[in-house]
Amino acid sequence: MTNAVSRLANVRSAIAAAAAAAKRPEGSVTLVAVSKTFPIEAIEPVLAAGQRVFGENYVQDAKGKWPELRARYPDAEVHMIGPLQSNKAKEAVALFDVIETLDRPSLAKELAKEVARAKAAGVRVPRFLVQVNTGAEPQKGGVLPEAADAFIRACREEHGLTVEGVMCIPPADEPPAPHFALLTTIARRNGLKIVSMGMSADYPTAVAMGATHVRVGSAIFGARG
Ligand SMILES: *Cc1c(COP(=O)(O)O)cnc(C)c1O
Repeated sequence: MTNAVSRLANVRSAIAAAAAAAKRPEGSVTLVAVSKTFPIEAIEPVLAAGQRVFGENYVQDAKGKWPELRARYPDAEVHMIGPLQSNKAKEAVALFDVIETLDRPSLAKELAKEVARAKAAGVRVPRFLVQVNTGAEPQKGGVLPEAADAFIRACREEHGLTVEGVMCIPPADEPPAPHFALLTTIARRNGLKIVSMGMSADYPTAVAMGATHVRVGSAIFGARG
């Protein structure tokens, strides 16, 4: 756990160095610490060290940890970064500050319904990122790059969702840079301010290519069991 805190400091320095090398302003990159599968006891020291933005992949896993952690750290921000089933839309809207994996019309419809309910009840609602399948991998979530503009527009105009950005997970066996470049282009073209890309193996490259959010798990928390 103390290890996680020192690794967190290393990741922060590497982000700052990559931003400086790319002549990007200090603080233009947000670190999303990916705490999926790690228990409260592993996450708490990282919160105590000042980290406030976290990523989770599974609704049930997040539900078991974040209500308690948020009670202690009310300004923590939790992002859903894993595939989201439509039947979990209600729980996800209640639990997360940002849902990064909006990737299909059926999910947009379910989320819109739950967002409308939450708004009517006066509770806060999440912001959204559209996941783009930049490598067109059949097993991976995300809209195809050529369908991204139309889907983003539909999410905003037809479903009334607050889309603030895009995210991608490049193919594991390809150099990530062209995928990062493509995602940044899609964000700019659609006037979106958030570009979520880069994981433990490639976040400095992502920062060089315009990431505003990097999602780093194992480089902070260690290998997942
Ligand atoms: C697990 C995961 C990460 C973090 O991966 P690491 O290699 O552990 O940094 C980032 N993004 C998504 C979508 C993930 O599922």
